[in-house]
Amino acid sequence: MTKRYLIANWKLNLPPEGIESYLRAIAGAVVDSSVTVVVAPPYPYLRDLHSVVTGAQNCSSEQSGAFTGEVSPAMLRDLGARYVIIGHSERRNIFGESEGLVARKLGLALETGLTPVFCIGEDLRTRDAGHAASFLADQVRAAAVAQLAGEREVIIAYEPVWAIGTGRNASGDVCAETSRAIREALVRFWPSHHASAPILYGGSVTPDNVDDLVSCGEIDGFLVGGASLDSGKMLRIAARLGQPGRTDGPV
Ligand code: PEP
Repeated sequence: MTKRYLIANWKLNLPPEGIESYLRAIAGAVVDSSVTVVVAPPYPYLRDLHSVVTGAQNCSSEQSGAFTGEVSPAMLRDLGARYVIIGHSERRNIFGESEGLVARKLGLALETGLTPVFCIGEDLRTRDAGHAASFLADQVRAAAVAQLAGEREVIIAYEPVWAIGTGRNASGDVCAETSRAIREALVRFWPSHHASAPILYGGSVTPDNVDDLVSCGEIDGFLVGGASLDSGKMLRIAARLGQPGRTDGPV
């Protein structure tokens, strides 16, 4: 059975319905066993979310030391996080995270036993110039750290910058073609067992556009920002993800 992931990235937000009500809905829902639902809240809430599988939105590239304001992968693991988002475009573009820093975080997360959700994605200018595939391949190559030789899975999140928080999602066709290009890059630059890494899509995913994305057949799940703050929307996306053959809409 193909493993699928639905990852909620709350960013610097809390669900308007309230954390307790959100968690009751997610933890109490029956979701297809092929789908792992992960919730990534801001750091201070990680421990409160023990009723669901949790991920962190970021981590330090260092495990300890004089690094004011940083939170290490080991600390996140102590808080119950099993996953960590690495290299989100908001970290790269707003906080200036370089390819080198992202690669160090990826390596340390793997070393610590967290499953990284490694984000890559091109901006609109790069896509319009026809360079998306080579740009993404460069991002994959830049993150080819030694720790990838271990057995731990890395989840890839294809998140085109032009689709994040813009209400403009990539089509199923674009996702399928890009996912194939990313897989080629994984084969070229990463150890061979990552050739079958799950590739998620992220960028303005909602229950209303998820059908086209699931139907493309090349996407193993979603990293969701805005819509993930609503438990009802999350569960509608999860339902569709768990039934890839269906075309008659969410339950
Ligand atoms: C994200 O931040 O990873 C994301 C995909 O956001 P949104 O769903 O709001 O576009």
